[in-house]
Amino acid sequence: MTSKWWTASPSVRPRTRNAKGSAPVQHGASFWTHSSLTRVSHVLTSPADDLRERGLRVTAQRLAVLRAVAEDPHVTADTVAENVRSEMGSISLQAVYDALGALTDVGMIRRIQPSGSPARFETRVSDNHHHAICRSCGQMADVDCAVGAAPCLTAADDMGYQIDEAEVIYWGQCPECVQGARSA
Ligand SMILES: [Zn+2]
Ligand SMILES: [Zn+2]
Repeated sequence: MTSKWWTASPSVRPRTRNAKGSAPVQHGASFWTHSSLTRVSHVLTSPADDLRERGLRVTAQRLAVLRAVAEDPHVTADTVAENVRSEMGSISLQAVYDALGALTDVGMIRRIQPSGSPARFETRVSDNHHHAICRSCGQMADVDCAVGAAPCLTAADDMGYQIDEAEVIYWGQCPECVQGARSA
């Protein structure tokens, strides 16, 4: 596997953990893999091509924001701004919000809005995965939906709605916080 544009430097490690709380999930690496569930050609296209294909003008800011989200799943807009600033100098928070909004609108990133928390952004889109959030520290982990079947999409009663997404948030305590509470 060749090195891809978003490959994080060794010092940058994804902060997300999987639902079992052990190994960090390599989200960056799954970025195009997940897009490729629907469009295999994405494996070979660049982020700039992807922006163009979706009708977005390619700007350094959009590319930097996209990259920041790819490298740090479930990131907040504030953190994206910090990371983009350290990479390309100044960028206003408004410009970050604008880029996040544009990328979300075309489906290149997904916005998660947990109650009582700022919105988080991720590049893992289109697979209807869910999230577990720690009430104590706010850490968020991906929880896979059953592959293929997505049983949670089958509502007990769909009320006549044509349902295409089920957003589930599991609230609780992450392993670190459970451990901390026990040893405290
Ligand atoms: Zn926690
Ligand atoms: Zn996620």
